Parts: sequence; structure tokens; C-alpha cells
Amino acid sequence: MCKTYVLSVPTAKAPFEKTTIERRPLRSHDVLIDIKFSGICHSDIHSAHGDWAGGIFPMVPGHEITGIVTEVGEKVMNFAVGDRVGVGCYVDSCGVCEYCLRGEEQYCTKGHVATYNSLDYDGNPTYGGYSQMIVVTERFVVHIPDGLELDAASPLLCAGITTYSPLKRWNAGPGKRVAILGMGGLGHVAIQFAHEMGAEVTVLSRAKDKEKEALSFGANEYYSTLDPETFETLAGRFDLILNTVSATIDVDSYLSLLRVDGTLVNVGAPAEPSQYQVFSLIMSRRSIAGSLVGGLSETQEMLHFAAQHGIAPQIEVIHADQVDDAYERILRSDVRYRFVIDISTL
Ligand code: NAP
Ligand code: ZN
Repeated sequence: MCKTYVLSVPTAKAPFEKTTIERRPLRSHDVLIDIKFSGICHSDIHSAHGDWAGGIFPMVPGHEITGIVTEVGEKVMNFAVGDRVGVGCYVDSCGVCEYCLRGEEQYCTKGHVATYNSLDYDGNPTYGGYSQMIVVTERFVVHIPDGLELDAASPLLCAGITTYSPLKRWNAGPGKRVAILGMGGLGHVAIQFAHEMGAEVTVLSRAKDKEKEALSFGANEYYSTLDPETFETLAGRFDLILNTVSATIDVDSYLSLLRVDGTLVNVGAPAEPSQYQVFSLIMSRRSIAGSLVGGLSETQEMLHFAAQHGIAPQIEVIHADQVDDAYERILRSDVRYRFVIDISTL
């Protein structure tokens, strides 16, 4: 066992406390990682605030982890001490179901083990990246390519793969008009990926002051969702809308912006249910879909794509004692565009 300092919340919505936990002794396929940076995803807030059912407390959030390998189990093949590595949203899956076999471990039929707020297959709670060290079986660890800094790379482990995967699946590319709805942690990375995939990218945001940055990330156009004219101007325009908003949206209004056969893909995950008129789908053969992070091999591919195309999250590095304040700021959408905790300050 190895003792490690963590930031944990004792109960839903409580402030963070610095405390210690024990990481499991290294098994033959395990990698011990000295965590350098941990991004703050809005899912951390949903979880730590108990927005979604079934929160396990005390909770140590964090699933945008980057660090350095400090020890490896005797059967580890793909990692060595000193490697720059990342860990994302989950740390185990059955490995034998049809989804695991095709590299979509997030949809494992046994249920994947999430990096935190989850029970591992032995029934022990998992604790995430707001922590100095983590032990992870090597199948769930990825390499951070040269050319990506460990701090800016950390949000790619969730925000990156969560947007790259559906953009690819729904063929964002040349000749496709893609709208990114919401320009926060996920949204600002999605703009960069969609642009580099060759799509024509439009940003739909409530904010009045993000246009210049949206264009710098590669957007072709920027529209305010608070302006009713936006919905008249853009009616029937998009092949794909990627919804990254953390709250419920007026689904019918956004469906009206899709072409025939267009798809609204939800990655934003509010707790409240959504409503829509089926006629919004029927009249233009539109679809509504959802997507959960991405598989391990696709995560590695996404990191290489980011390194190759110069894609990097725009981050604000904070100290461990600033996490409560960062949560407040994210809830006010006052983040440009991802907070990343410098774990050396823990
Ligand atoms: P974030 O940084 O807070 O960004 C969310 C953006 O949504 C905000 O910047 C804001 O954009 C917009 N927004 C927030 N509240 C809104 C409201 N009441 N009405 C309209 N727009 C609003 O959050 P994030 O880290 O990108 O995460 C976004 C969502 O994705 C969360 O629900 C998170 O849990 C979920 N998520 C899902 C997956 C998955 O696998 N599906 C993975 C990671 C995260 P503007 O200011 O530009 O309007
Ligand atoms: Zn996340």
C-alpha cells in the first residue's frame, strides 16, 4: 500500500479537505503514476455536488490526469519508469465483451470502473486525480506524445476525447457544417478538433465576449444563443450540433437548426430530463444522440492528432487550495477555458 495526499469532499457540496488515502499495492500489470496535473471537468462538479444519483463519499474527483511513471509491475509491457502518461475517465473494464473487444471499453457490458466515484471489481471505492499518486492497470494508461505539455494535455484525457470521438463518428470533415453549442472546457477543445478535421465550424454561445477567442480556436462563425434572430438566421443549417452544455437546453430550438438527416449529439450531461416535439425529428428525418468519452485506443489516437495539429486546451493552472473557488467560477461560466490543478501544491 502507499499513502498519498488527496483533495476530497466528505459529503455532497462540502468544501474540499486535504487528507490521505491508501493506493493499492502494485499488481503485476499495474503502473504507479506520480501525478503532476489534474484538470477540473464539469463532471467533477456534478459528482461532488451529488447532481447525479449514487455519489460515493468521501470523494476524490479528477479524471484528467497527467504524470510520470515511477514504478511498474513485473508484467507491464508498454510503460517504463520515467514515461509521460495520462489517465482518463475509467480504470477498468471486463476486457472480453463485444464493446471491450472493439476498443469501446466505456460501453463495457459489465460496466466500466470509473476513475473515481465508482467501485472497482473487488468492491473498493475508486479515487481520482486530485491526488499525488495513482495506481492504474496499464491497459487504461496512455502515452502523452512529445510536443504536448503535461499541464495543457491533462484536459484532453476527458474534454479532448469526449469531443473528438463523436466528431469523428458523425463525420465532421470537409463539406460538413458543424455547430459547437457551449464554449467551456469541452466546447473550446471541440472547436479545435472540428476545425482540424476540416469541417466548417460555428460556435453557439450565450457569452458576448468569447467571439474573438472562438475564431482563434478555428471557428468560422460565432452566434449568440440569447439573440432570437440567431435561430432564424441559422434554420436548417447544420449537419451536426455537438451539445456540450452542462444544463438542459431547449431541444426543439436546436433541432430546428439541423438540415435533413442532421444529428444533435449530446455530450453535456445535466441531471434533469429533456423534452422535445417528435415533429422536430420527423419533419426533417433528424436524430438525437449521445456519446460517452471514448475508448482507450481512440484516446491515444486523439492525443497524437492533437500533438500533430497543435491542438491544446487553453488552461488556467491553479493551486490545490483554489479548487473550491474554481468550482464556483465554473458554475458562473467564468473559466477560460479549463482549470488545471498543479498537484505539486497539494
Ligand atoms: P463547462 O466548462 O462548465 O462548460 C459548459 C458550457 O455550457 C459553459 O461554458 C456555457 O457555455 C454553457 N452553459 C453552462 N450553463 C448553461 C446554461 N444554464 N444554459 C446554457 N448554456 C450553459 O463544462 P464542461 O467541463 O465543458 O462539461 C460540459 C458538460 O459535459 C457537463 O455536463 C459535463 O458533465 C459533461 N461531460 C460529459 C462527458 C461525456 O462523456 N458525455 C464527458 C465530460 C463532460 P457558454 O458560456 O459558451 O454558453
Ligand atoms: Zn470529464
